[in-house]
Amino acid sequence: MTAVTRRLVLATRNAHKLAELRVILAGTGLDVELVGADAYPAIPDVKETGVTFAENALLKARTLAQATGLPAVADDSGLCVDVLGGAPGVFSARWAGRHGDDAANLALLLAQLGDIDAPHRGAHFTCAAALALPDGTEHVTEGQLRGTLRHTPAGTHGFGYDPVLQPDGHTVTCAQLTPDEKNAISHRGRAFRALAAELPGLLP
Ligand code: IMP
Repeated sequence: MTAVTRRLVLATRNAHKLAELRVILAGTGLDVELVGADAYPAIPDVKETGVTFAENALLKARTLAQATGLPAVADDSGLCVDVLGGAPGVFSARWAGRHGDDAANLALLLAQLGDIDAPHRGAHFTCAAALALPDGTEHVTEGQLRGTLRHTPAGTHGFGYDPVLQPDGHTVTCAQLTPDEKNAISHRGRAFRALAAELPGLLP
């Protein structure tokens, strides 16, 4: 009898996230075929109505698992600034008002922190990675990347707030790291690697 490859669906239309999780899954030795939400175009995107990263990741994974009948994985992430009490947090993608306007979000954040000196510019990226099974089983892992916020952006790689977060132990911003260097230390990489390590005991 031949083994059946299990299919796992990732709640994203972002090819970069799909490729990143494929690499991580390959490292686990699990026989899993990962497909993106694009493979199910009839399923609408989920509104991120949660107030925590874990809630939003679970909302997306749960909806996709119920709609496809397959195990589903989703993530939600953002930047949490110490002196802002953890904001922008789950509002990171729409901090300046328009969803996904990275340049405006970054400019607003820098203006808000204009008078704040280095010792108080601590922040971290957080990512929650969620697995939901059609039978209702759910599991969430989290990863963080801690650092300090620069006063001026530097670097051209990455996206979002990458040009201003200098990870602890580094002398450059996330936007000056190569994609591989960032994946190795990133909140998303850490959350996905933690989830992938638990998949063998969670998948049916
Ligand atoms: P999402 O989880 O892809 O929806 O990301 C939410 C928002 O958080 C993004 O639009 C970015 O503003 C911010 N963000 C999340 N992860 C990163 C990162 O790795 N670098 C820079 N910004 C990030």
